[in-house]
Amino acid sequence: MIRIDQLNAHDDNYVYMIQHQNQTIAIDPGEAEPVLTYLQQQQRQLTLILNTHMHLDHCGGNLDLKRDTGCHIIGSDERIPGIDLILKGELHIPGLGELINVLYTPGHTRNDCCYYLPQGSALFSGDTLFNGGCGHVFEGTMESLYNSLASLAALPDETRLYCGHEYSEENYRFAASIEPTSALIHDKLAKIQQQRRLGQPTVPTTLGEERCSNPFLRCSDSELHRALKLEQASDLEVFTDLRLRKNRF
Ligand code: ZN
Ligand code: FE
Repeated sequence: MIRIDQLNAHDDNYVYMIQHQNQTIAIDPGEAEPVLTYLQQQQRQLTLILNTHMHLDHCGGNLDLKRDTGCHIIGSDERIPGIDLILKGELHIPGLGELINVLYTPGHTRNDCCYYLPQGSALFSGDTLFNGGCGHVFEGTMESLYNSLASLAALPDETRLYCGHEYSEENYRFAASIEPTSALIHDKLAKIQQQRRLGQPTVPTTLGEERCSNPFLRCSDSELHRALKLEQASDLEVFTDLRLRKNRF
């Protein structure tokens, strides 16, 4: 049995808690306090922090949590506060068997990674892939992020996407501005706005849904090429154009 819970941190970050046997794992604890409250409520001992990247909204709670719980910290960037083990091409988390697969997804920063739980059909995508969007390219190249997204999109349809932020409404407002006549995107946006009005999270979605409606995963779709007036462009050029438009949105 794998249990996954999602906690709120900062304005719009999500911290994810995984309970499996005697392991309790926090993914991207941008703040310590919600994690400590959770641990107390659940009567669990934190064993491990996994970080997707080094931005402080994802690892700002690391040092306090390490001090209070003695947990280990693992990630793929040496700049992560308190890090004990820097992943460098490992496919699994040492000590956790085959529970978690590590996917290296540079682009947002030069050392992002994502965590995939095959048994739980869950992907923790940090700031690489969002519900309806993708991360900014801060340190990588457009091509590196494009390739990283392609590697995530290859996971099974039913994979639940647990991303790092509640950005869905803005992402689908952007998508609707690109494809104003798309009924699919219109319906998605309406549903998300309704959920947000009720104070509900719009996360997780599934990779199957994302492949149908997330413009950044549809760069080979001829309708999207047409909407951008880039009929002759390569998929990477479409991705680059979309990402630049989103930066200005
Ligand atoms: Zn970030
Ligand atoms: Fe972030």
